Order: sequence, then C-alpha cells, then structure tokens
Amino acid sequence: MSVNQKSVDVLVLGGGAAGVCAAISAARSGYNVLLVESQGCLGGSRTATGVDTFYGFYTPKEQRRIVGGIPWEIAQHLVSQKAAFERPNTYGAGTGITYDIEMLKIIYERTVLDAGAELLYHTYASVVHTEDGVISRVVLANKLGLTEVTARMYIDTTGDGDIAARAGAPFEKSDVAELQSLSTIFFMANVDTTEAKKISHKELAERMKAANQSGQYVLPREEGSWHVTPHPGVIQANMVRVSGIDATDPYALTLAEVEGRQQTQQYVNFLKAYVPGFENAFLISTSHHIGVRETRRILGEYILTEDDVVNGRKFEDGIACCGAPVEDHGAGKDTRWVYVAGDGHYHIPYRSLLPTGVNNLLVAGRCLSATHGAQASARNSAQCMAMGQAVGVAASLAIERQEAVRQIPAYRLQELLREQGAIV
Ligand SMILES: Cc1cc2nc3c(=O)[nH]c(=O)nc-3n(C[C@H](O)[C@H](O)[C@H](O)COP(=O)(O)OP(=O)(O)OC[C@H]3O[C@@H](n4cnc5c(N)ncnc54)[C@H](O)[C@@H]3O)c2cc1C
Repeated sequence: MSVNQKSVDVLVLGGGAAGVCAAISAARSGYNVLLVESQGCLGGSRTATGVDTFYGFYTPKEQRRIVGGIPWEIAQHLVSQKAAFERPNTYGAGTGITYDIEMLKIIYERTVLDAGAELLYHTYASVVHTEDGVISRVVLANKLGLTEVTARMYIDTTGDGDIAARAGAPFEKSDVAELQSLSTIFFMANVDTTEAKKISHKELAERMKAANQSGQYVLPREEGSWHVTPHPGVIQANMVRVSGIDATDPYALTLAEVEGRQQTQQYVNFLKAYVPGFENAFLISTSHHIGVRETRRILGEYILTEDDVVNGRKFEDGIACCGAPVEDHGAGKDTRWVYVAGDGHYHIPYRSLLPTGVNNLLVAGRCLSATHGAQASARNSAQCMAMGQAVGVAASLAIERQEAVRQIPAYRLQELLREQGAIV
C-alpha cells in the first residue's frame, strides 16, 4: 500500500478549543500549519459535544476578566454577530458567555483559514514515529489511506493526549471509578422559559429526587441544569451522567454514547412531566459526540496540583490565568466544587504543557500535566484556548530559535503572548 507524504512547519493534531487557538497563533507567526481534526467541524467539546458556554474568562467572585488574546477575540466576534451573550451564574464558574454553536463553528473555521493554516477534517492521527526523543513523523488515516506528515514542531490537542502517549511520553489516567463522568448534552425547543425559570436550581434538584423516588425514572445526576440559548424557546441541558467509562477505549465510548442517549430520553420525559414550561417542549438534538471531561493527563515537566489551584499559586513561567473552581463530576449524584482562594486566580505554567522525554512536542487543553483535581479546574474552555495560543507561539519561537521546546525562555514567550493581548 502506498503511503502519501506531506511536510509542514507545525502539525496541530485535534481541532478543539485548544487546537484551534494553537493553529491560529502558529499560522499568524508566519509558519506553515496543518490542523487535523477527526470530526467534520472545529470546536470538539465546544461544538460537536453541544457545550455552548465559555467559562473561565472571568473569576467567579469579582468577575475580573483574566483571559484575553485569541480566546477573547473569538468571544467578541461571536458577540458582534449577536450570536452570544454574557450569562451571570449564581453558582459554579461565574459569568459565562453562551453562544450559538453553529456560529462558533463558522468563526473558528474562518479565523483558522484567515490566519493561513490548512485544515483537514475527517482524519485521524494514528501512528507516531519517534527517534531519540524527537518525533520524526505522524501517520494520518483517512479516506485517502495513510499519509505520513513530517513537521518541525508537533502540537497534541487531541484532548486525550493521543500523540504524547504514542510518542512514549509518560501520562496518568485516573482509575476508571475516579475518572470524571461523561455527559450527552441535549437541546429542547418550544420551552416557555419564563415559566420554567420560576423553578429554582434547588427546586429542580428536589423534583429530580422525587422523580427518582417515584420509581418511574432513572436520573443518575440530580443536580444537572438547563439554560437559555441565543434562540427563543430553545434550551440546552447538561444533566446526563455516564460514569465508569475510559473514553480512550472506543468500545466503552460506544456504550457511553448509547447510554447517554437513553438517559436523555429519561431527562426529557422528566422535564415535560415535572417542570412547568416544558409541557409542549420537544427534543431537537443530542450531542454528536458525548462530552468527555477527563482521560489521559500527561506527566510533564511540572504537574499542576489541586493545592496550586485552590491556593491561587503563581509561577514564573505562567502562560495563562485560571480562576475557575475545581468542578469534579464524580460518579455520585453530586458534583464536588472547590473555589480558588487568595486573589481568585492561579497560573498555568508553561512546564505543564511540556511532555517529558519528547523534544519537539507540546500539549494543550484538557490533557495538560495536572492531577485529577487540578485538571477539574484548568479544563475550562477559556483556559484550553489560552493554552492553545501559548503552545502555538511556543512552537513558533522554538522553530525561530532552533531550540527544543523546553529550552525557549519563558519570559520571551510571555512577552510575545502579551503583545498578542493575552493576559499572563
Ligand atoms: C459535558 C461537558 C460540559 C462542559 N461544560 C463546560 C462549560 O460549560 N464551560 C466551559 O468552559 N467548559 C466546559 N467543559 C470543559 C471544556 O469544554 C473542555 O475541557 C474543553 O473544551 C476541552 O478542549 P480541548 O481542545 O482540550 O479538547 P476537546 O474539546 O476534547 O477537543 C479535542 C479535539 O481533538 C479531536 N481528536 C481527538 N483525537 C484525535 C486524533 N487522534 N486525531 C485527530 N483528531 C482528534 C477531537 O475530535 C476534538 O475535536 C465541559 C466539558 C464537558 C465534556
């Protein structure tokens, strides 16, 4: 079988929140970038999974904005198209920016292409060849067959750390019982949202408990929520909880998709029966890809800990700020929340994006080097995008200076990020 060949400066694998921003920043630095995505749109959890609210731009308590740069540019682009609005939150990660998913798909695509990056959908990064701590090529699989791509720098934004793991970099995965649960997100239309909002979050949870106790429903998560979207009468619901799944096992992931849709039916029936305003509502979509919160976490040059997070620790090589609480969706019926103390934010260090033992690979997004608890905070979308911008700049800097990614000076990376509007 013949294998196609391709060569680029920067190969970005995975087009979620992190990968999009990595590709944009590396391409804007003037390098030849290929962004590879297994699905047919950009955004990952932000689009295909149906999660329609950016959290992490603001600290929950003071509502101080701590993320700028490309992530903020994208959020503002959505607002200027009247496709997003700020949604104050009475609990959780603070003010969110809720957007129209279809518009985000378009804005992500336009921004990536305008930056000059090449985009390749429906393509899986599979085999990774490594020689003496350096990736020599990555094999892509798609309808053309196999393509070997060589690059000067590789960026793993697969969310699952696929590339780092296959390059032999060490990683950690929580025990399957500890891994954060998965959620199928669903949308319903024809909801009388004014009426439905009269039921508080606490009351909704009590009604879920009552429904469970009636024996007529099986609702594994009793504190899930729904919210309004930019479209009248259309709501998004994050209620489903599928636990005990390692999403890097495709067989288990398949069962999770099936279970998630079955649970969706239960929650839809519950809402129609127990929540005034939902009587005439109907399901319009379930996520194309069940929401995966946690799989592999790389073990990088530094492992961010929950202690760093809750104490608002700052690092000399900080490349992004985060004030989002630890939001640990365990297997039980409740979610564990722990808030950031001190001035309300901590730094994500550059070293947490550097897999050990591989010199031309950077990682960004939810597979960063962090403990289970720290990842449950740093995985917020504004931070994943900020990490993406940082690794795009870092890859460019490493090429320019002809240095390994761990050798580039953090102060220079921070200077460049600040010049691009990032808050570091
Ligand atoms: C149910 C749920 C609700 C959430 N709610 C919120 C919220 O309200 N607000 C918030 O800010 N955050 C929320 N989050 C967290 C946040 O959305 C994610 O942590 C973040 O978007 C992850 O971005 P990422 O780019 O690291 O990974 P992903 O979004 O997982 O993107 C990875 C991309 O890589 C692609 N990919 C994977 N493997 C390969 C491969 N081998 N080859 C090619 N492509 C590949 C995938 O298709 C995907 O597009 C939620 C997450 C979930 C799951």
